[in-house]
Amino acid sequence: MVKQPEKIVIIGSGPAGWTCAIYAARANLKPVMYEGAISEENRLLGTLPLGQLNLTTEVENFPGFAKGVMGPDLMMAMRDQAERVGTRILTEDIVSVDLSRRPFSMVDSTGETISSQTIVIATGARANYLGLASESRFKNHGVSACAVCDGALPRFRNKPLIVVGGGDSACEEGTYLSKFASVVHLVYRKSRQQMPASPIMVERMLSNAKVKPIWNSVVEEVIGDDERGMTAAKIKNVVTGETQTIDGTGMFVAIGHTPNTKFLNGQLKTDPVGFIVLKDPFRTTTSVDGVFAAGDVADPIYKQAITAAGMGCKAALDAERWLETQGS
Ligand code: NDP
Repeated sequence: MVKQPEKIVIIGSGPAGWTCAIYAARANLKPVMYEGAISEENRLLGTLPLGQLNLTTEVENFPGFAKGVMGPDLMMAMRDQAERVGTRILTEDIVSVDLSRRPFSMVDSTGETISSQTIVIATGARANYLGLASESRFKNHGVSACAVCDGALPRFRNKPLIVVGGGDSACEEGTYLSKFASVVHLVYRKSRQQMPASPIMVERMLSNAKVKPIWNSVVEEVIGDDERGMTAAKIKNVVTGETQTIDGTGMFVAIGHTPNTKFLNGQLKTDPVGFIVLKDPFRTTTSVDGVFAAGDVADPIYKQAITAAGMGCKAALDAERWLETQGS
């Protein structure tokens, strides 16, 4: 017997994916969610099920939780809610897709094929890190890739902090962290003139008396101990070769994100970094009719759980309406 295609398959289990699943289930679309496989490869890449929030500690900016909520608890609650309203959940990756004809077909990490009339890509993005062993050791104990998520935590208040990078994110994080920090050291590997950030963002950050730039420099090592977490960083000037140790209870790495789009194998239009390009910025439509994208995989700007959740809701509604236009 030939299996009927699904109405909607959602790939990726962060806030965008679960919100999409909840709306799709309530619209009677019987969503199938590929939440990702629990594999060593995904652990190393930071792409295990439940997304980036599952890797953080306390979340203080998701509306509805006056006392804050732990990231993993929030994600489990979303998963439970999606399951309760009827989402079928598979703990596997989608490893390849064929978007050239409808229904679309996909192959999962067990080698099974599934077909669907619509697909929602909600695979998120992972923050880039420097790749130092000492950096991994202090993740969530001083090292972070999201100032908006973590900057207000007690360990960063009135303490010296370090921001790494030279783009708009680094400028935004530097300016934001100056509200909490005693001083923010901006470590950039080239000169001020070579920063890719927009001049207005650079000017705003550097005119802040709390921000001290360290040009032509890279972080060589994050220093700390098990009890206190990060306490300092060893910085090397790449022009003179000199090194210095600067105190800091936090290091915010703002060197870009990598969207998780490899499995698409170029079948959807993306920007040069790999973020999926939405056909209309107010919708979730992509370059292929019937394929929608939601959350960080299609959002290089906001990258917040709540914005991802909002996009997930839009993707379910867009898919539902698109199915109606197809007489389904
Ligand atoms: P960018 O790619 O613009 O900048 C990344 C920075 O990280 C670069 O300065 C780069 O250095 C540096 N870098 C990369 N790898 C390393 C490394 N291994 N070690 C040290 N430094 C490294 O990324 P952003 O996240 O800043 O911005 C992404 C996009 O989002 C941009 O289009 C930006 O405009 C947008 N954005 C807009 C905002 C706004 O408008 N409010 C806020 C945030 C982002 P180098 O310069 O040498 O290449």
